[in-house]
Amino acid sequence: METIVDSVDQSNLPQLIVFSGAGLSAESGLSTFRGKNGLWENVSLDVVCNYATWKQNFEAVHAFYDARREAAADAKPNEAHRIIASWQKRWPGRVQVVTQNIDRLLEEAGCRPVVHLHGEAQLMHCVECDLEWELEGTTYDQSGCPICHRKKTVKPGVVFFGQPAPHYDVLYDLVSELRPMDTVVILGTSGKVLPADRMFGHSPAYSILVNLEPGRDMDEMAFNARHYGAATQILPGLTDEIASRMDASHRGA
Ligand code: NAD
Repeated sequence: METIVDSVDQSNLPQLIVFSGAGLSAESGLSTFRGKNGLWENVSLDVVCNYATWKQNFEAVHAFYDARREAAADAKPNEAHRIIASWQKRWPGRVQVVTQNIDRLLEEAGCRPVVHLHGEAQLMHCVECDLEWELEGTTYDQSGCPICHRKKTVKPGVVFFGQPAPHYDVLYDLVSELRPMDTVVILGTSGKVLPADRMFGHSPAYSILVNLEPGRDMDEMAFNARHYGAATQILPGLTDEIASRMDASHRGA
């Protein structure tokens, strides 16, 4: 049955995009990739996250992602995940949650839908027949693809460097449609993989960066506002500002 919310044209109302990275889940105990204690300090991304070489490093790739799933199984959403979910509930259909994260803590906090730009650690993918499926548990037993039964064609359902990212089109569409009335919160990302400064900082929307500390990979002055500190400490203070933008009348804007 169509709800009142569905039947109202929301395209003239302000939208919010929340674009997140590994820093969002850091306070849930999941390591970021870069920075202090980052995962790349212990393992080379060319070994475990490279589409050109992953088959050569088959054992190391699966061991690395088994460990990521193991860590994620013990992790719980933090206050920042919950606040993002509360924004999505408060403004139905107007809050797009787009993450580079491969964990599911946003969903566990109640976010729906979530666009996972870089896939999900809990999925497996056969590059031969393109089947994607949910892994039971945390360890891949290397039993092979359920359809074609090949073994060495199965990788984690995570987008590797050099591999096409099927959901980037969703992101590019969102960026191209941004208007001055819209808001983007960029949260817990170095911008090294996806240049959030170029995508959002130079867009017509009002952009707010939330990162633990200033970084070197983005032109952070491109954002309209910058907040440095832990996400769980910063986000509670942002809700009022976001509400005033989301609830403002923008007739004729
Ligand atoms: P990154 O590791 O490059 O950068 C992390 C950023 O988070 C840094 O700018 C840091 O200042 C900030 N940060 C750290 N702790 C924070 C906190 N408590 N509050 C706010 N900010 C905090 O992360 P990225 O830009 O997402 O890197 C890209 C890749 O890392 C992504 O493709 C993603 O798939 C992958 N990744 C995902 C996870 C996960 O799913 N949890 C974990 C590690 C890496």
